[in-house]
Order: sequence, then structure tokens, then C-alpha cells
Amino acid sequence: MQHEKIIVMDFGGQYNQLIARRVRECNVYCEIYSYKRDIEEIKAMNPKGIILTGGPNSAYEADSPTYSKELFELGIPVLGICYGSQLMMHLLGGHVCKAPVREYGKIEVAVDRSSAMFGDVSEQTICWMSHNDYIEKAAPGFKVTAHTPDCPVAAAEDPERGLYALQFHPEVLHTQEGTKMLSNFVYKVCGCKGDWRMDSFVESSIEAIRAKVGNGKVLCALSGGVDSSVAAVLLSKAVGQQLTCVFVDHGLLRKNEGDEVEAVFGPSGPYNLNFIRVNAQQRFYDKLAGVTEPEKKRKIIGEEFIRVFEEEAKKIGAVDFLVQGTIYPDVVESGVGGESAVIKSHHNVGGLPDYVDFKEIIEPLRDLFKDEVRKAGLELGIPEYLVYRQPFPGPGLGIRIIGEVTAEKVRIVQDADAIYREEIAAAGLDRSIGQYFAALTNMRSVGVMGDERTYDYAVALRAVNTVDFMTAEAAEIPYSVLQKVTSRIVNEVAHVNRVFYDCTSKPPGTIEFE
Ligand code: GLN
Repeated sequence: MQHEKIIVMDFGGQYNQLIARRVRECNVYCEIYSYKRDIEEIKAMNPKGIILTGGPNSAYEADSPTYSKELFELGIPVLGICYGSQLMMHLLGGHVCKAPVREYGKIEVAVDRSSAMFGDVSEQTICWMSHNDYIEKAAPGFKVTAHTPDCPVAAAEDPERGLYALQFHPEVLHTQEGTKMLSNFVYKVCGCKGDWRMDSFVESSIEAIRAKVGNGKVLCALSGGVDSSVAAVLLSKAVGQQLTCVFVDHGLLRKNEGDEVEAVFGPSGPYNLNFIRVNAQQRFYDKLAGVTEPEKKRKIIGEEFIRVFEEEAKKIGAVDFLVQGTIYPDVVESGVGGESAVIKSHHNVGGLPDYVDFKEIIEPLRDLFKDEVRKAGLELGIPEYLVYRQPFPGPGLGIRIIGEVTAEKVRIVQDADAIYREEIAAAGLDRSIGQYFAALTNMRSVGVMGDERTYDYAVALRAVNTVDFMTAEAAEIPYSVLQKVTSRIVNEVAHVNRVFYDCTSKPPGTIEFE
């Protein structure tokens, strides 16, 4: 079945993925494409509506991202947000220029409730603004439907042509009634019925995977993390015995994790995944010896992963497809396919070597956010304790050890991390904190222990709260808990004499360290 679809055209804004996210929360399927996509391709996708995102440029400058005016004549409703709204006005004959007063943050906006966008919205409503330019004059045919003291055109529309413009960002939760506005666009303006649900994601993925794979053999990279577990179970539902799951113990897993994963997904567990465990620890340590540069480490780990899979694939005969549990934030941060800047290459995305010995890679979760993946996991009947597992990145402890990776450093960070997790759980905080782990800094400093001088490593503790893993804040862990963890780590873990707590949010930090 063909689902109703909204298309988001990416002009390089910071919150584009959130737009798609909010639309999906309205039960309408949504995809993001670059503004460079040809209009013929957009037409062929037959969208119910199109949303133009924000972006860093100024619409009136010659080399700024732009689009064919024809987009506004297709008879498909278009909503411009921030840069998107400015571009719409600029292209259709309005006037956009540098604003005398720029607006940033929460601003009270007066809206006209006779607009379909604002019918159920308060007359004065708090919206999130972030702009230096503004629409001084709306384009001919448009009616102004919202303003602020500093912004004469905070919203405008031409309902006859189905064109809507918002200077603020409805997708950001700081815009208190933003979800209502997006829902109004999708339902009232575009006439969607809401035919997309998480369970239809599972169903339609199974159908799509079957159609693609046919009788082919599939190899899945199972790490035991939430994403790859959901991908593996989804594949096993789709193609059953054609699937083999390979679990590589790369020696960069958390303490005892290899055995735990084997216990759940191995032959004695509840699933039928044709599970193979490869113990490749030493191989990875050898490759990583002497390497300190984070991107290089990620690439080496990603590449070695693929090599190990190739070897396994050869043992089980010809393999046609390789499955990976890449999810949407991985794709965005790697700067693949989007207009946003590269933050770091993901081991499933940017780290792929040019030559891969499989016919094709399948990434069934590529369009989902973490919490959507969890919903799909529950839908597939995966037990809650697995679905709500701590996220753990593909390169594992390799990117929680700053600088060179050695077996000894792995042992240190494993032990420190195990203590940290134990104490967080003992304090009853394990479900309320989004993600928490120990990392090993590359710093050694002087300490004193048993009257003797020490010169040992410092462990960093990280704990963040986040909804979508795109932004995060350091968690406020009670000091007594931090104290207990600190004293246990310095006492129980050899070669650690200092413990730090990382207070940085994301941005400007990232959740992981490298
Ligand atoms: N660059 C434009 C401005 O400063 C648009 C900003 C945005 O889309 N957030 O007004």
C-alpha cells in the first residue's frame, strides 16, 4: 500500500529532522530530501504536502540555496519555515532583507485564528524564533496571519494556492503550540487522513525486505545493541532461515557483554537467528596499535568489521545482502544525504570502505529515531529490558578511550564502567538517565596512594538526558552517588587515580568522546 507522504525539502536548517519527526507523530509518513532534488522527482513521489526548512543563508543573496518557482504552482500545499518562508516570499515577489532587530529564542506571537493553521491555537502564543533576516513585505496575494512587535510578518498565507509561511519554528518544542500547527497543516491544509503508524512500519518493512531479498541470503551484523537487535529480529521475521547473524566480539565491548549477547541471541536463546560469534579481539587491537586520531580509529574499526563479515560470509557460502542497524541520527551526523555539516562519521555510514564484498547493504531503520526504533522493537515482541538497553555505539569502547587503544586501557574502562553502571542502578537512576558510561581520558596525573606516589589515568564519567539523541544535557547525579562511584573506581580499578564528571551538554559536546 502506498502511504500518504509529506516531503521535507532540506535547506540546511538545524532542526530539519525534527520536522519529519513531528509530521510522523501526526501519523503521516514523511521523508527528507535535499533542495537539490529535481522537481520532476518530487512530483513523481506524489506528496500530499511539501515543507521547506530553515537554513543559514539569506534568501536574497545570489548564491543562496533556491528552488524553481514551479514548486508553488503544482497544486500541492507548501509550508515554508524560517528560511523556507523567506525563500517563498522572495521568489514570489515579496521583500526579504536584513531585520533591524533580530529575534532569537522564545517570542510571543499574535496569530489570526481565522487561519487554518491557527484555528485551535491561542491568540497570543509562545514561538521559537531564530532569524537575522525578515519578511518586510509579504508577496502579492498573501495575507499576513501573525506578527510580533519586531516582526511584521511572522506568518502569511495564500490559502487559494495552498501556500503557507512561518517565520518561527513550529517543529521545536519551545514553540508551545507548534505540534498543533504542523498537524493543522498536514490534516486541514493537505487533507491527509493519517495512515501511517509504527506497526505499519514493521509490516511494510517486512514486505519491502521480502520483495528486495527474494531467495537471497542475508547476513546481519548483530552487536546486541538496540538498533542491530531490532534490525535482526525484523529481518528474521521477513526472511527466516535465509538470515545468518554474526556477532563480532571486537574486544571493545562492555564488561561481560559478549557472553550476555550470546546468551540472548545465541542458540539457547528465544530467537532463531543462526547466530555465529566471532572472537576477533586481538585482530582489532593489532590494527588499532599506535593509532590516536578519532576518525581514523572509527574507520579502522568499521573497516575491520566489514572484513570479518566478509570472511564469515565466505564460510557460509554466497551472501547477497548485508544488514546494518543504522538509524536516522547516525545518517544526519555523518552528513550523508543531507545539507547539514559533518559532525562525525558513523561506523555504519561514513566508515564503509569503498570495496564491500556484498551485493547490497540493507538498512531497515535508516529513517527512524531512537525512540521510534524502540517502539518498533516492542511491536516485534522484543523484551522490554533489551529494547530499553543503554545505547552503545558500534566502535564501542574504541571511542570512549581517548588516544591509542590497548588491551590494558580496555580493561580499565570496562571495570570503571561496570562499577558506574552498578551504582547508578543501585541508586535507582538507571531508567531516568538517558545514557551514562565511563570513558578513559588520555591524561595521567600524580596522586598518592598508600604513601606512595602514583602516576595514573583519569576516568571521566558521562551521563546525559536526551529525548532524541540529537541534543542532550548533562544529568544532575546526586553528589553522594558520584562520590561512591569515585571511591570505588580508584580503589578497585588498577591504574586510575582520578575521576571527573563531564558537565557538558550536546551541543557543544557530543555524547561520546571521539
Ligand atoms: N538565515 C535566515 C535568517 O537569518 C534563516 C534562519 C533560519 O532558517 N533559522 O533569517
